[in-house]
Amino acid sequence: MARERTLAIVKPDAVKRNLIGEVIRRIEQSGLQVAAARFLQLSRADAEGFYAVHKERPFFASLVGYMCSGPVMVMALEGDDAIKRWRDLMGATDPAKAAPGTIRKDLGQSVEANATHGSDAPETAAVEIAYFFRTIEVVARG
Ligand code: ADP
Repeated sequence: MARERTLAIVKPDAVKRNLIGEVIRRIEQSGLQVAAARFLQLSRADAEGFYAVHKERPFFASLVGYMCSGPVMVMALEGDDAIKRWRDLMGATDPAKAAPGTIRKDLGQSVEANATHGSDAPETAAVEIAYFFRTIEVVARG
């Protein structure tokens, strides 16, 4: 099992409902570790850049507006197989279809306002972590 890093975001809907601590509690309880963290308000350009791969999707404009609708908590997580473990902890994109006990099932509000983000592969994780953090801001936990 590879030691990995992945990008996690507590999205605006969850931050507004004071769920940052609940998300971090689940992350730490699962054995994943926080390697970097920033609390920030994304600009429209920041959100468009982050979700550039989705720019042709019909929901892109709405997604960008939502991601700028309030502050977000952005983290790099570290652990064995961290990318899949964080995706499993989050659950399916649509909270209505997510498995019981997952973050999106328990805390998500809609397919768009689904509480958290997680990278989907090693290549995207590297790009996404570098989007928010300089190398020296990501602290090895292993
Ligand atoms: P995931 O975040 O699970 O990797 P995607 O990469 O497909 O999912 O989509 C990125 C984000 O775009 C989702 O987390 C969600 O906030 C939003 N999104 C995805 N599908 C839809 C949709 N059909 N309508 C509105 N927003 C969506």
